[in-house]
Amino acid sequence: MDLDAELARARDLDVSELADAIESIGFECTRCGACCKGYEADDGPEPHTATVFPDEVRALQDAAGGDSDGESGPPTEWRDVARPMPYGLVEGDDGPEGETFEWALQTTACGDCRFYEEDGSGQGACQVHEDRPLICETYPFSVALGGTSQPMGEAVDEEGVVRAHECEGLGRDISREDAEELARALKERAIRELREARGVTEAYEPVETGPGEVVVHDSEGAKRPDGTRVQ
Ligand code: SF4
Repeated sequence: MDLDAELARARDLDVSELADAIESIGFECTRCGACCKGYEADDGPEPHTATVFPDEVRALQDAAGGDSDGESGPPTEWRDVARPMPYGLVEGDDGPEGETFEWALQTTACGDCRFYEEDGSGQGACQVHEDRPLICETYPFSVALGGTSQPMGEAVDEEGVVRAHECEGLGRDISREDAEELARALKERAIRELREARGVTEAYEPVETGPGEVVVHDSEGAKRPDGTRVQ
């Protein structure tokens, strides 16, 4: 795949046309929390798995925790925000091992995003709403460009390059203003995903991993699961 060509297409996306497509499909978040929680797959429960980029991990660390001198609370560690993307890892005697690409939002023991919380009435909320990653901000939409990430499952609706994925909020009225805001975020996400994909390709150098060892490759190089660089 020619990532430079796809990146040029992403930069050329017309926000107004994206907004037209979003308006035509329709969307309003019902705050059901389905896009923030683990789910039941054919072969059992699956944890929530959404890609988060290195700069987004750092932004979430800042948003979720105390500052680095610990004065306003203990700093939020990399591991508190992100986990190695599980695809590509194999189950060894000491747990998952091997090399993988990119990071997924960290999950709780029950498989939900660690930033998702429900109040007593079952109404869910994101604890880092203002700083949530672009993939969350733009759910349930994606653009049909190679090298961009697509939410799990087939697209259930499509309008031009805009795809819509399973979500109970689809088909509801959306204001032009909200559609344009979503469209701008969708374009920004496509550009950042493609820049990240290109960065990973350029930075990748294979690393030999031992038993129980996991190495994550992102656009900044090879890292341990705690976010520190592999020397
Ligand atoms: S970061 Fe917020 S919006 Fe994104 S999956 Fe987690 S709880 Fe949901």
